[in-house]
Amino acid sequence: QKSSPAQAEFYQAVEEVLDSLQPVLETEKRYRSHAIIERLVEPERQIMFRVPWMDDQGMVQVNKGYRIEFNSALGPYKGGLRFHPSVNAGIIKFLGFEQIFKNALTGLPIGGGKGGANFNPKGRSDAEIMRFCQSFMNELYRHLGPNTDVPAGDIGVGAREIGYMFGQYKRLTGRYEGVLTGKSLLWGGSLVRKEATGYGCVYFAQHMLQDREQDLIGKTCLVSGAGNVAIYTIEKLYQLGALPVTCSDSTGTLHHPQGIDLDCLKRLKEGRKAGLAEYLQEHPQAEFIPLSDYPADGHAVWRISGQVAFPCATQNELTLADAEALVANGCLAVSEGANMPSTQEAVDVFLAANVSFGPGKAANAGGVATSQLEMAQNASMQSWTFEEVDRRLQQIMAGIYQRTRDTAQAYGQPGNLVLGANISGFVRLADAMIEQGLV
Ligand code: NDP
Repeated sequence: QKSSPAQAEFYQAVEEVLDSLQPVLETEKRYRSHAIIERLVEPERQIMFRVPWMDDQGMVQVNKGYRIEFNSALGPYKGGLRFHPSVNAGIIKFLGFEQIFKNALTGLPIGGGKGGANFNPKGRSDAEIMRFCQSFMNELYRHLGPNTDVPAGDIGVGAREIGYMFGQYKRLTGRYEGVLTGKSLLWGGSLVRKEATGYGCVYFAQHMLQDREQDLIGKTCLVSGAGNVAIYTIEKLYQLGALPVTCSDSTGTLHHPQGIDLDCLKRLKEGRKAGLAEYLQEHPQAEFIPLSDYPADGHAVWRISGQVAFPCATQNELTLADAEALVANGCLAVSEGANMPSTQEAVDVFLAANVSFGPGKAANAGGVATSQLEMAQNASMQSWTFEEVDRRLQQIMAGIYQRTRDTAQAYGQPGNLVLGANISGFVRLADAMIEQGLV
């Protein structure tokens, strides 16, 4: 029953999950008698708050802040904070809902939550970002704790923002504890956390290709986005011998058939957050397609020919027409770095065309899994080497892939990793809820 019709993305995510849970709901009657679905779609707690702050001109600005603590059956709430003007309750709810299945799928002891604000960091000075983060934490701190709720980054929230929020949390509580992940390596961060979502998403693609008796070597790859996930997807693709030829941002799409210059991309995006058109100053032979030249029914990046696609920017950035174009151009596999980047119609096209399709809640789970490794290091006052964390990440991604693939097989739909991921995450979560009683 849709009681909040404005929350389109939330209903989209719920419908996809409920659709693939039908086989398990039909056979396992205990989930119905315990009203697991009715309880799952209702967050345990939703916090909405005012975030007032002062800009550099001395004007007071006000934003809406959110933290949705969705489900704690498997551990403390865990999930990122997004700062983007498009943020609203429906977006945070869809992300929180996806997060509970994703976290269950990792096999780690983490519940699910998500938060953020409709704040636009673009064009804001460092001082403005700091004041905003401090004001945001002035409310959020009372809901957090290393065993209660441990947020991380997401769109618009990287190590700088995590640092300002951590500093304010420490000042308000007097406690130095692992209450945020994605921290700087100088003070409690984990090696590989920055790289983890992108690397994990490529490891997932490797497993999908292996099952088709293929690998990434020499494959032309399409990546969307130019932020944290996209950059480290591109880095890992190069390390594994593939050729990433695209990336994109909110101004347009870059196509460089000789391969994206990763150093140049990092210089443009990690420090200054420049628009991608500037890439042409160093590489005039590359092509930049501005937003105004995108096809009316989709995204320019998916109309370029490539064998493996990595949507790594945002939700619903890969449409039905985009999926049809990818299939027509011979795409073999799609591994989602972003959350719900493909529309339901696009996913149906991939599944019907036998394209290996790794849904975000499985393919991008390496980020939250490595956040849990950061929590484990903080709790035991240790720091592991890059190789150690990467080894664990690879193991976790292999486990997620196997569970997803085997579950799809067990429910009579081999290769349907959407069904495999949803059922596998659901069963762990639902059984934990039943064992913990009516709470
Ligand atoms: P970043 O903010 O680092 O990068 C986001 C990128 O996507 C930027 O290049 C941005 O463009 C582009 N983008 C964002 N919104 C839009 C939009 N509406 N239209 C076009 N382009 C857009 O975020 P992340 O890389 O961290 O996150 C990307 C995706 O991955 C999100 O869906 C996030 O939820 C998901 N994710 C992230 C994880 C993480 O560990 N960071 C973990 C799991 C999932 P511009 O540069 O112009 O701002």
